[in-house]
Amino acid sequence: MAMAGRRLAAAIQVDSVVKRSHSVTTMVWHATLDARTIPQCRVAHGHSFNATTIPVIGYPGTVNQYCRCISVPGEQTPQNVTSVMGSLTNLS
Ligand SMILES: [Zn+2]
Repeated sequence: MAMAGRRLAAAIQVDSVVKRSHSVTTMVWHATLDARTIPQCRVAHGHSFNATTIPVIGYPGTVNQYCRCISVPGEQTPQNVTSVMGSLTNLS
């Protein structure tokens, strides 16, 4: 799937979760953790983001063309996805 399509699909997935859960706008990044997981997804895993604000690395599922991350409704975490990205020195 082209990146534009992946971004659209991820935005629709986030949107549908928000709609199903009504007022919930806090989402948690859920990565598939294995040898193929890229550093950005590994670091983002388990951290929250606001569904109405696209994280600095994009929505789950859009980080690169192999990204298998999804978003799930959840609680706010001490650090959000965008702030934990600061711990990565090389964002490529
Ligand atoms: Zn990913």
